[in-house]
Amino acid sequence: MLNFSFNLPTKVIHGTEVVSKNAAEIAKFGRKAFLVTGKSSARLSGALADVEATLNSLGIEYKIFDQVLNNPTLDNVAAGGKQAREYQPDFIIAIGGGSPLDAAKAVAVLAVNDIEPQELYTNDFAVMPLPIIAIPTTAGTGSEVTPYSVLTLEDLETKKSFSTQDLFPKIAFLDWRYTASLSRTVTIDTAVDALSHLVEGYLSRRANDTSDLFAKRGIKLWGECIEALVKDRIDGEIRDKLLVASLLGGFTISHTGTTFVHALGYPLTYFQDLPHGRANGLVIGQALKFTQTVAPERVRNVLTLLGLESLDQLIELLNKLFPEEYTLTKEEARKYAARTAQNKNVQQSLGEVTEEVLYSILKTSFTLVD
Ligand code: NAP
Ligand code: FE
Repeated sequence: MLNFSFNLPTKVIHGTEVVSKNAAEIAKFGRKAFLVTGKSSARLSGALADVEATLNSLGIEYKIFDQVLNNPTLDNVAAGGKQAREYQPDFIIAIGGGSPLDAAKAVAVLAVNDIEPQELYTNDFAVMPLPIIAIPTTAGTGSEVTPYSVLTLEDLETKKSFSTQDLFPKIAFLDWRYTASLSRTVTIDTAVDALSHLVEGYLSRRANDTSDLFAKRGIKLWGECIEALVKDRIDGEIRDKLLVASLLGGFTISHTGTTFVHALGYPLTYFQDLPHGRANGLVIGQALKFTQTVAPERVRNVLTLLGLESLDQLIELLNKLFPEEYTLTKEEARKYAARTAQNKNVQQSLGEVTEEVLYSILKTSFTLVD
């Protein structure tokens, strides 16, 4: 039977200069804004300048928290939450890559709930989080249209997401120009994150007809960017396609969640300090080799949409994008496989993804040393 159920509560406004052209949309949220961002995402992208000019033209008062770390920790979001609680804004504007966007979701909760950051994981708050306007400056996470906030938990030595339906941003402003200042490395890392969302969502047990529509369109768009990514010819048109592919990935995982690729990526980021998208990209090729054994038709569809002939071609492409040699000790690989097996998202993958399967993916994706 068909299944087109879907929930997509974020208003997406896509184009160039969308922030300044849609000042009236911002004015609806109140008179006082709290901006959450990181140092380079705010300033190098040009997004902060546009937001400040628009807020000034509207006479909206604002305060900036620009201390968000890459892979934000509970302490980091608690500091932002404390400042927001004191400032008492009407709404939050999140500017940046996934790190500031996810941090802003935690700040939106902590601004109106005087709780310990660990309590974010109850996913249930006495007071409704503040409304969020999200402006992505990377084309990767799709966090501007998801209810997830992925934070680093030092105590548990991992990354973990919390979410409630109230955390979907109210508005996402998408302007590719804000991604033009990204380095080639961050462009590739984040683009591969978007690909992971699209592919994992399409190959999830939770996929339905609507999420498939988004995933397939996104994978096709991503395929149209391959040559430019490899040859480093990333112009405005390509950046716009990557931004939309990332948006479609966000739509997809807002319904399906992620699967074993992201779950394997978390320990790789936590212990090896690998950027989020790259961590996924280093394992996705071998992960698909496993999925191919249980869902060959779906994997073939992914490859066709990407314009590739075989899974080996995709693996070759990822090797070109990430040419360095990455090593792990056998002990590390064992530990990460064991931890990943505990992650509930692994159960949403197609096939039976056991600790042994996860270990063999790491073994074939990395150079294992003693
Ligand atoms: P990021 O950590 O937000 O940013 C990576 C780097 O790029 C940072 O140094 C950042 O600087 C810089 N940067 C961002 N925009 C820039 C621009 N326009 N020009 C120049 N530099 C710029 O990376 P990300 O991959 O976008 O986000 C990763 C995080 O998102 C992870 O924590 C991941 O777990 C999470 N995530 C969330 C979801 C979700 O659904 N919520 C999905 C996937 C991943 P600054 O530090 O100064 O900002
Ligand atoms: Fe991701």
